[in-house]
Amino acid sequence: MNSRRDFLQKLGISALALHLAPLSGWANSKNNTEAPYEGRVLRVAIMGLGGYGTRVAEAMQSCTKAKLVGLVSGTPSKIKDWQSKYGIAEKNCYNYENFDSIKNNPDIDAVYVITPNALHHDMVLRVAKAGKHAICEKPMAVNAKEGQAMVDACKKANVKLLVGYRMHFEPKTLEVIRMRNSGEFGKILFFQGQCGFKIGDPTQWRLNKQLAGGGSMMDIGIYAINGSRYMTGEDPVWVTAQETKTDPVKFKEGVDETIQFQFGFPSGAVASCLSTYNMNNLDRFFLDGEKGFAELQPSTGYGPIQGRTHKGELTQPVTTHQTVQMDEMSAIIFDNKQPVVPVNGEEAVKDLKIIDAIYQAVKTGSKVTISY
Ligand code: NDP
Repeated sequence: MNSRRDFLQKLGISALALHLAPLSGWANSKNNTEAPYEGRVLRVAIMGLGGYGTRVAEAMQSCTKAKLVGLVSGTPSKIKDWQSKYGIAEKNCYNYENFDSIKNNPDIDAVYVITPNALHHDMVLRVAKAGKHAICEKPMAVNAKEGQAMVDACKKANVKLLVGYRMHFEPKTLEVIRMRNSGEFGKILFFQGQCGFKIGDPTQWRLNKQLAGGGSMMDIGIYAINGSRYMTGEDPVWVTAQETKTDPVKFKEGVDETIQFQFGFPSGAVASCLSTYNMNNLDRFFLDGEKGFAELQPSTGYGPIQGRTHKGELTQPVTTHQTVQMDEMSAIIFDNKQPVVPVNGEEAVKDLKIIDAIYQAVKTGSKVTISY
């Protein structure tokens, strides 16, 4: 470690960044000073070759501990394209009808479910039944009941269930968490999370309750929910929420356009958040404590994440979130590594309980208590 520290210091890398390296896994990238990785490689099949699946596949080309080896898709032409692009063997390609037979394939360790939200539950249950580890995109399910069933099924099958919470491995985010844990902000008093964008095509699955499970809250508001938890270090115990709908044609019944919501935490800290599909330029977290503050903006986009605290600019390295996430997930699955912020199914069920409570608060107009 000393020689590595000396070497990095000669390169001019800050002590702060060095401190973060083992936490964030950013040093896993290929241009680092670590010895070549000789451990087990997580062999992953991606299910759902859409927009985000494409991003994950590209990012995985730079992984050292994980490798894309299989595909599950309902579109044969995509399978063909991906096979030639990534050199995927025919025997590792499946469709949604036949993918249960993946259980007989010893060359795949995990399936990464990147389909529309409402399909995650059934797909993860089938992955567990096939005896493969499940990695699932957010929101893990469309309500806490389904989420809990996924956790139970994976437990029963003795496979891991991890969720694509890529921000849990992001260096500037981890530095804010480190500062909070070491008391640099003092007692935490307030969090603000603003997450949203103006959504386009009205025919897309994100605006279809059957496939999305809801509206902006399921897709982008979940970042403010999850962020409120990792930024404050607490889980909210009550919520109030108000919905605004300016376009009931585009945002039909059960598809929320804009929701403002407020949380109370056990310590007495409070949060004020916004989730929307109808405003741009909203990607900001603000954390306020008795002794200082942190601001991340952008806070959850693909990067670069930027931020500052009362001590100055955050200077931790820029990473490709999905590359680090998949390398870290390999270590979680094979070496039982404990990430600073969990990415397991239980973590996702907490977010889903909060989403259930937000929708209930909108419906009833009352303060809703959340228990875990
Ligand atoms: P896309 O619409 O781009 O892709 C979804 C893919 O799922 C499709 O291309 C299709 O792939 C497959 N699919 C299976 N059944 C259906 C169906 N009935 N309707 C539509 N598609 C279907 O969506 P995204 O990739 O943007 O989102 C997928 C998931 O990833 C969502 O849960 C989303 O929340 C999450 N996500 C996470 C992000 C993050 O930063 N963590 C960012 C973006 C999305 P095929 O043709 O191969 O079957």
